[in-house]
Amino acid sequence: PRGDDIGGPSPPSYSSSSSSSSTPLCVGCVGGGQLGRMMALESPRLNVSMKFLDGLVGADCPAAQVVGAESCVRDGGSLYDEAKMRDLWDMGCDVITVEIEHVGVDGLMNMERDGINVQPSGRVIGIIQDKFAQKASAMTREYFSKHDIPLPPYVDISDVDSIRNAASSLGLPLMLKSRRGAYDGRGNTVLRDISDDAVIAALSDLGLTIIGRGEVVGTIVSAAGDGESSSSSSSSSSSGGLLYAEGWVNFHSEVGVMVVRSTTGEVRSYPATTAIQTDSICRVVLVPARNVPESVRRKCEDVARNAVSCLGDGATGVFGVELFLVNNENGLDVLLNEVAPRPHNTGHYTQDACAVSQFENHLRAVCGLPLGSTDLIVGAAAMVNVLGSPSGGIDRTMRGINAAMSMPRAVVHWYGKGYRPGRKMGHINITADSHAELDGPLSALLLAEGISEDVVHRGIG
Ligand code: ATP
Ligand code: MG
Ligand code: MG
Repeated sequence: PRGDDIGGPSPPSYSSSSSSSSTPLCVGCVGGGQLGRMMALESPRLNVSMKFLDGLVGADCPAAQVVGAESCVRDGGSLYDEAKMRDLWDMGCDVITVEIEHVGVDGLMNMERDGINVQPSGRVIGIIQDKFAQKASAMTREYFSKHDIPLPPYVDISDVDSIRNAASSLGLPLMLKSRRGAYDGRGNTVLRDISDDAVIAALSDLGLTIIGRGEVVGTIVSAAGDGESSSSSSSSSSSGGLLYAEGWVNFHSEVGVMVVRSTTGEVRSYPATTAIQTDSICRVVLVPARNVPESVRRKCEDVARNAVSCLGDGATGVFGVELFLVNNENGLDVLLNEVAPRPHNTGHYTQDACAVSQFENHLRAVCGLPLGSTDLIVGAAAMVNVLGSPSGGIDRTMRGINAAMSMPRAVVHWYGKGYRPGRKMGHINITADSHAELDGPLSALLLAEGISEDVVHRGIG
């Protein structure tokens, strides 16, 4: 059973308001969406209590349904509002963490200067929340040249000329990506030709326009609102440009690896998974990664651990590392897509398939407790996201859940959010002793959830 190896919390390695080890540690979480809710569901077993700040007031956010409105900052507030984050700390927290990267990092860094314990640190969240800075930070470069693991080719974009130059150096189609506020592919657009009309249409897709001598300006309209949290919006006004361009990656498959790094520096990775997206939204996760030799899976896990470690001090808690596998003449190469500084959709399977889940290990890591095992304790597992049905409302949305309820090794996780088409409403984990034994129940679940088998066949490369 999970957590049995903790005989009560060890003394935390940071200054704590707790006077004795029987006083629960208190974790304050910026964001109260489903990721915060799933942390909150794990916390009492660890003698950890949780408080939340969310854009939605009180009982309206998924986490509040677990901890109660009295454990949430009164009246809610923006995740960019330093005063509200300080209100969260003042609810008796020993550590502040996040369940979303789209938060006010300047406020978090000010709080750290005043001695407030923030894990992961504002500096690390700041690097990650800018998808260009993630790739171009000096540390990442050093890491990738040192370890000879490439990123997809990418360039900075400031004006229309730089878009045309990117198209000629990286080729078409060209992926244009918002640096900030992106989730579920909102913030990405594909440029297929470089006519004026196509460039203007691609930019307007992202809420951007062109002024003067071709400067790209505007506010990214597709910024965060309901990705992994029911939280606030972000503006793209702060440091750096708005966009960067990435070469098109004709990938074999996508891999997700969860990494956990403690305040003590201990780092562990979970097994490499196949992550299958539809319309840039995570739909199905399979573990161990399918059609990927064990040596490549190990390489993915090494890349993921190193990518997190190279972020340095303050890279604490759980990180979701998204990778592309690309065919080369000798097999499969690994490219880093992006890193998220929090529990991640590709790690939800850990709740039912691993010794200790990503949510529990996140809490252990930010509290400075020993990390739990990241090993798979079943032969194979799958996670299927339950999205708000595009038509047919909540009844249609519940079909996958209803089917799962009568499957022996399926476990339902519901987020308590109001129905909206396309919205992440919950997920289902299924486990088996082997891939072969998983595939029958998985097919039944895909059918009920309305996911074509082709999606999975294409997704496994
Ligand atoms: P998330 O919700 O994971 O934060 P995001 O909005 O940050 O997503 P990305 O991870 O950049 O978006 O891209 C979403 C998906 O789009 C990827 O998982 C992949 O399927 C596809 N994609 C991204 N970049 C490329 C690329 N350069 N070439 C081909 N496909 C890509
Ligand atoms: Mg992202
Ligand atoms: Mg992504």
